[in-house]
Amino acid sequence: MAYIEPAPIKDKENPLESMMERFNIAAEKLGLSDEVYNVLKNPAKQVIVSLPITMDDGKIRVFEGIRVIHSNILGPAKGGIRFAPDVHLDEVRALAAWMTWKCAVVDIPYGGGKGGVRCNPREMSKGEIERLMRAYTLAMIDVFGPDKDIPAPDMGTGPREMAWLMDEYSKAHGMTVNAVVTGKPLVLGGSLGRTEATGRGVMVTALSAMQKLKINPFQATCAVQGFGNVGSWAAQLLEERGLKVVAISDISGAYHNDNGINILEAISYRDSNNGTLEGYKGAEKLSDPMELLELDVDVLVPAAVEDVITIKNVDKIKAKLIVEGANGPTSAKADAIINEKGIMAVPDILANAGGVTVSYFEWVQNRLGYKWTAERVNRRSDRIMKDAFDNVYQASVKYNVPMRIAAYIVAIDKVAKTYTFRGGF
Ligand code: NAD
Repeated sequence: MAYIEPAPIKDKENPLESMMERFNIAAEKLGLSDEVYNVLKNPAKQVIVSLPITMDDGKIRVFEGIRVIHSNILGPAKGGIRFAPDVHLDEVRALAAWMTWKCAVVDIPYGGGKGGVRCNPREMSKGEIERLMRAYTLAMIDVFGPDKDIPAPDMGTGPREMAWLMDEYSKAHGMTVNAVVTGKPLVLGGSLGRTEATGRGVMVTALSAMQKLKINPFQATCAVQGFGNVGSWAAQLLEERGLKVVAISDISGAYHNDNGINILEAISYRDSNNGTLEGYKGAEKLSDPMELLELDVDVLVPAAVEDVITIKNVDKIKAKLIVEGANGPTSAKADAIINEKGIMAVPDILANAGGVTVSYFEWVQNRLGYKWTAERVNRRSDRIMKDAFDNVYQASVKYNVPMRIAAYIVAIDKVAKTYTFRGGF
């Protein structure tokens, strides 16, 4: 049967178009040649597979699996695997390209990839998920590889799924190949510092931006949307560096306290409350959770889902600085208004690249057969994030463009130059 692309969700920007809009502006500023433009515009490889899985009731269900390698010009492709009901090719293509730019911005030797399986892991048993992960790995056995394409967790997958992937890949090769995947449990070669790495990168880039904007962290306020891995780590690390976090939120709602929220207390509440802030008493619950984005704070960290800052609410945003912990939280249309308002936005491909940086360290450690201390991991990733911020900032001054376009310029320039040296056919 022919592949039928589902229509983009109504009122949401098509993720591929939204990425391409920014890519086009940066390409024009850079004066990218048409030849290289066409190479970078198109994904290098797109694989779609059907995965028949025996469910617990004995029936066979067929799932669709996708893997897209956008580019392997800088090195093996790198990118997560998403298990979600609405996974579609356009989204995976956009996310794969995002990974190319993200790895190039932080100057790590990877191309970009992304994968997904259209399924609802919340409605599946552990055994069903394991069989699906193993089937997906086997179907992609010629795509994956420590020198070709290195997957990682994404929405709906985690260390457990990465362990199954590593095991299945290793069995097929007759040896343990732990460098084929990152985000593994520590005992299988995962890296210390990986859990907090993305939130840590958000903190490092936020502080670098605050320095440029002359905002004193000890007098600054902050609101964080999303209190999962990225949001809660970012909130904790920013609080440790002096910021007053006045609002946090998760799927249960948004919680606001002008006197500041005790983040460690909120984390321990969440952890003892089935992973949610529902019923949190350390702050007042806002009637509309989206109000969090409109609070009068210095720093706003969207760290939940995509498309939350849109043409509908961008006018009401009061923060001086937005640091994008989530992927794609700002729509392309809202970007223009953010710039007009003079708000600095540290874009996702820079702000949340701490995660892929430490994933790269995991791969390096696996290949060395050696383990680094958390202190070494943090020191090196902080340096990479700080340097990346400075490079992007310099590009934004040089080309007189906002930070988002500057990040694309830095990334596209690097990939284009490498491609020009390597050459095509
Ligand atoms: P997570 O599942 O750990 O946390 C997501 C949080 O967002 C949860 O607290 C959830 O309740 C909350 N949430 C969901 N919908 C919401 C809504 N509408 N309003 C407010 N809160 C909502 O996920 P995560 O790993 O923290 O990832 C968050 C974002 O960061 C995603 O966009 C992800 O792609 C991106 N990201 C994550 C990493 C990483 O290393 N984890 C790396 C790069 C980018």
